[in-house]
Amino acid sequence: MRDSPKIEQGRFNDIRECIGCNICLAFDSLGAPIRCTQNPTMGEEWRRGWHPETIPPKDTDDTVLVVGGGPAGLEAARGLGQRGYDVILCEESRELGGRVTREARLPGLATYGRVRDWRLEQLKRMKNVQLLPGNRVTADLVLEAGCSLVAIATGATWRGDGVGRYHAEPIPGLDDVEVFTPDDIMDGRLPQGRVVIYDDDHYYMAGVIAEQLVAAGCDVTFVTPEPTVAAFTQYTAEQKRIQRRIMELCSAVHTSTTLARTEPGTAYLACTYTRRETAVAADAVVLSTGQIPRDTLYQELAELGPAALEEAGIRRVVRVGDALGPGIIAGAVHSGHLFARTLDTALTDETPYRRENVTPDWDRPLPSRGTA
Ligand code: SF4
Repeated sequence: MRDSPKIEQGRFNDIRECIGCNICLAFDSLGAPIRCTQNPTMGEEWRRGWHPETIPPKDTDDTVLVVGGGPAGLEAARGLGQRGYDVILCEESRELGGRVTREARLPGLATYGRVRDWRLEQLKRMKNVQLLPGNRVTADLVLEAGCSLVAIATGATWRGDGVGRYHAEPIPGLDDVEVFTPDDIMDGRLPQGRVVIYDDDHYYMAGVIAEQLVAAGCDVTFVTPEPTVAAFTQYTAEQKRIQRRIMELCSAVHTSTTLARTEPGTAYLACTYTRRETAVAADAVVLSTGQIPRDTLYQELAELGPAALEEAGIRRVVRVGDALGPGIIAGAVHSGHLFARTLDTALTDETPYRRENVTPDWDRPLPSRGTA
């Protein structure tokens, strides 16, 4: 029999509150499997047999160390804890939440904190999950932890060299100017004066940084290689509002334009069609371009080799979330959940979920649930 809704049961804190990101709409618009930032089972109910509320009980004797308390680490620990596994989650910062905690402080992104809040609410009731913020984990500590599975969920770092979708090589001249990344801004290190924001990410980050810097008194020039500001947000139905806001806030907006090179006091912009250059006065540049995984700990453990790990009782070390592949928050949450369900995040050539028959043998029975 179907349970009554959580709201009727008075279980308000068990409700995964929507953060309003419209990633569900974006993936649906793109014709990709629908995704939800808060609920990683959305779109996987039939394909993978994932129920949004229940999860199979544990079926191994593993104990799990999760390193990193961002969206992927929190979701991995929560799912594993719900399954009955003993879990230790260590986070270097004194605050849990990783990128969602940091991004939630940027203008207009406060609701992103709900990704952390719902998970912490669930985790605090789990006696089998230890949360240890303010603990930096080294390779030696991993070996001493005594856990048989290790999930590295240490996130990603924004690049400071301009490499991204447009530039495959670092932008020349950046050593001679003050360069800031979204990590700097989120750490409270802000530029001053005339600032060029170069957006080769095309989502929300550069726009909210522009909002913050203009409020802090900066004179901002916004530059993007795409024909529109925050081009990806056309899929989340936010693009027109964001472009209007950026055009109102910034001194100048250059679309179809790349940051070609810099010199002290000057940023040289180039049209992506003609390569014609324009010089813009700049005391600093903010680069919202690519990210690289923070996977040093994973690499250190990999270098130790399987024998050393086995001797320490570790049978598998995996990366999850942005430490595996930087992306959107929904991707990190999904990755953490996938690990909690499968104790693995390896990609294989086998279709990992059921699909409809579209071939002439349409009447062939579908494989049993969850085994395709
Ligand atoms: S994807 Fe975002 S907007 Fe859509 S339901 Fe999930 S949290 Fe809400």
